[in-house]
Amino acid sequence: MIIVLKPRSTHEDLTRVEQMIKRRGLDTHIVEGSGMTIIGCIGDTSQIDSKLFEVDQAVEKVMHVQEPYKLANRAFHPEDSVIDISGVKVGDGHLAMIAGPCSVESFEQVLDIARAVKASGANLLRGGAFKPRTSPYSFQGLGLEGLEILCSVKKETGLPIVTELMSPDHLDIFNEKVDLIQIGARNMQNFDLLKQLGQLNRPILLKRGLNATYEEWIMSAEYIMASGNENVILCERGVRTFETYTRNTLDLQSIPVIRKLTHLPIIVDPSHAGGKWWLAEPMAKASIAAGADGLMIEVHNNPECALCDGAQSLKPEKYNTLITEIKEIAKVIGKNI
Ligand code: PEP
Ligand code: MN
Repeated sequence: MIIVLKPRSTHEDLTRVEQMIKRRGLDTHIVEGSGMTIIGCIGDTSQIDSKLFEVDQAVEKVMHVQEPYKLANRAFHPEDSVIDISGVKVGDGHLAMIAGPCSVESFEQVLDIARAVKASGANLLRGGAFKPRTSPYSFQGLGLEGLEILCSVKKETGLPIVTELMSPDHLDIFNEKVDLIQIGARNMQNFDLLKQLGQLNRPILLKRGLNATYEEWIMSAEYIMASGNENVILCERGVRTFETYTRNTLDLQSIPVIRKLTHLPIIVDPSHAGGKWWLAEPMAKASIAAGADGLMIEVHNNPECALCDGAQSLKPEKYNTLITEIKEIAKVIGKNI
């Protein structure tokens, strides 16, 4: 349930209405937008009669929210959320340009790629230290050593880092060192992990599960938000379909749908969607044209020898050309990199 206060309501009005809500065992979430105050009621509102609130002199209208997600709901927060990642803003016209290798392989490898993508215009550096691999015999990532490499490259280049958290054992070290904590597709519904992310003060990049519906995906964001961390960015990375030619099928429709249903930024990872480097380029452009708030793209300086996902990684030169074109598209739709 959402309660909208009349335009010139006072602080006393807000406190009075809030108390009425709390007396009924609900929590509140206040959004003070341009000229209006919205009170989101959190909890089971199914038995609450909206007329109780409509009679208050300060109340403009009361609306019931059908969706099971509240904090992530655009109705609770009509304006786009802007997430600050160690000084890099994402959302409401600010694009996240995340680039880097699938996996951290060595300091030299990450530094070389980071310098190249930064020169092209990337503002965040990705690299997997802990890798969720289908086979236990595949390269599993360098682990904590990989995380240290990312930190050293951050020191050299100034690029904030994005890397995947898989185990609750690493919550503290990630909270200390990682600028944007990625939750991969396979952990999108690891609810215990999601709840613990609520205790962190770092923003979270929540990838869409391999076969998750929009509602399931948003509910996972709601888990993080309801536990105390409202800094969530969603990432479309393709879903499983009957098609086997591509690794996954990029769901471009998710961009306008997520933007309609939520106020959270949504970025796109075309690399894991298509699984082929030459597909990442057109899908990246289409994503920005469709309203995405950024891109996560795998870039490798020697893709033929990459320890993971070489076939879907762009060479730095190709990334440079792509970002030049992306800048033109962004300009047309009034966004900046
Ligand atoms: C990744 O970004 O490194 C990754 C493993 O992606 P996803 O979780 O989307 O498969
Ligand atoms: Mn990868």
